Amino acid sequence: MSHRCRWPGCARIVGDDLWGCKAHWRLLPSDLRAWIGRAYRQGMDSDTHPNASYRRAHRAALGWIGEHR
Ligand SMILES: [Zn+2]
Repeated sequence: MSHRCRWPGCARIVGDDLWGCKAHWRLLPSDLRAWIGRAYRQGMDSDTHPNASYRRAHRAALGWIGEHR
């Protein structure tokens, strides 16, 4: 199972256990990575429907990306 990197505009394919490709994952601040990592493990057990805490963490990441790239 795999999906596209969740960084907007990135087309790299990554495994389901990852949020995005290594290059983009490393760009996120460590507190966001910790948040996403935690929410991801809890939220991705139903494969295609991430739970609310994962969606919140992902929205926070998108907000950070919008401000910093
Ligand atoms: Zn990427």
